[in-house]
Amino acid sequence: MLDKRNFYINGKWVKPSKSNDFEVINPSNEEPFAVISLGSKEDIDSAVKAAKKAFDKWKETAKEERVKLLEKLLTIYKKKFKEMSEAISMEMGSPIDYSTSTHTTSGQTHLEDFILRLKEFNFEEHFNSKSNNNISYEPIGVCGLITPWNWPINQIALKVVPAFAAGCTMILKPSEIAPISGMLFAEMIDEAGFPPGVFNLVNGDGAGVGTNISGHPDIDMISFTGSTRAGKLISKNAADTIKRVCLELGGKGGNIVFADSYPNAVRDGIRNVMSNSGQSCDAPTRMLVEKSIYEKAIKEAADEAKKIKVDLASKKGDHIGPVVSKVQYDKIINLIKSGIDEGATLATGGPELPNNLNKGYFIKPTIFTNVTNDMEIAKKEIFGPVLSIIPFETEEEAIKITNDTEYGLGNYLQTEDKEKAKRVAKKLRSGIVYINGKAADSGTPFGGYRQSGNGREGGTWGLEEYLEVKTITGWK
Ligand code: NAD
Repeated sequence: MLDKRNFYINGKWVKPSKSNDFEVINPSNEEPFAVISLGSKEDIDSAVKAAKKAFDKWKETAKEERVKLLEKLLTIYKKKFKEMSEAISMEMGSPIDYSTSTHTTSGQTHLEDFILRLKEFNFEEHFNSKSNNNISYEPIGVCGLITPWNWPINQIALKVVPAFAAGCTMILKPSEIAPISGMLFAEMIDEAGFPPGVFNLVNGDGAGVGTNISGHPDIDMISFTGSTRAGKLISKNAADTIKRVCLELGGKGGNIVFADSYPNAVRDGIRNVMSNSGQSCDAPTRMLVEKSIYEKAIKEAADEAKKIKVDLASKKGDHIGPVVSKVQYDKIINLIKSGIDEGATLATGGPELPNNLNKGYFIKPTIFTNVTNDMEIAKKEIFGPVLSIIPFETEEEAIKITNDTEYGLGNYLQTEDKEKAKRVAKKLRSGIVYINGKAADSGTPFGGYRQSGNGREGGTWGLEEYLEVKTITGWK
């Protein structure tokens, strides 16, 4: 059993103010493999005190000094790449090859990209040639960073790295369900030699440490990624101190498959929704298929889903692992049952454990057809390997159904007609639209409309979230 009970505060690993042990469970075998502490108000107060003190000096550091430290962190990250991949597999169940090729790689990509953005960014600019006004960008202050378990290091890097780059100091609270990758990242930050107090890590749950962070009077900004439920609570608790609240929340993405799509569009859509065991905020969990190809599409979809193997996270290969926890497992199974009760057709999958496994939080890739957009399975973020297929007749109807959701994070569309693709993409109400499965480039902004949140992470947009903007007149 790994002992990870200490917190990282003011440049040192320290004991929590009172002991409150919490076991971290390996979702592949349901057994605990590490113990952490859930912190208290006293722990947050001492982390905030350290961050506030460190801010005075850190905000004055030259950009070149921050670049140098981030480059050092990148070197260490590359050195510990394997360790990071193993930690992610153990804590949230991602198969080891997927952890390596996707999860751990995402952390490295964000580090590399923010280093470039920082080098290019002008923290001072003149308003215009006729004006005597100067515009300066200044770090917002002490930041509270709260992250989820589903893309653990991706989300941590998207917050910690731009906060460093902007000149902010911070307290990170990783998900208590998957905290080990965040603690490993803290060890790397320590090794890189950031000044004490610039980065602090306190573990805890949402109701305790999360609430202490969102309401703290000396925290200037919260950057939160997680559920819409928690995003609402954080916003309310942060309101009294008018801190900046950047939210990256849930999603219920649509994937419009037109009759003139490229040949593999349906199969690619299935792979996309099932990857990471369906635990991605921008997963295309509602597939909208044009009526003329509907029967063919559901055959292809079920056939592709049956090819996806489900197995232990420690095994090498191209399979999906378990979902993260018993709580998530029960929620997903109940939603699968609700789809059956509401009269959707179960094309493949279902609530039973896969045949090859008798332990662990494993769920078979599941596809429902003949779904209507008012069913629970079409409305709720299921966050498991479950897809709903909905037929449509016209372009207008497809757009209407896709936008008929509380969310607005990622939508997808498949057509070989370039003009139609652009026309539809512009009408979809989401922070990102993927045409024909093309990936987003590193450094592009990521975030949601409506109840998917209000922030944009990544690239210059992600850096600017951590900055205040000041106008100074009479500069010349
Ligand atoms: P969650 O909201 O339960 O927890 C996320 C984090 O918030 C955890 O660290 C948790 O301890 C903390 N938390 C919970 N309640 C809190 C409260 N009241 N105050 C402060 N902190 C609180 O979410 P999760 O189950 O860990 O993650 C899955 C969710 O994250 C999904 O809804 C997914 O769509 C979303 N997500 C969004 C994005 C994005 O970029 N939009 C990316 C990844 C995940």
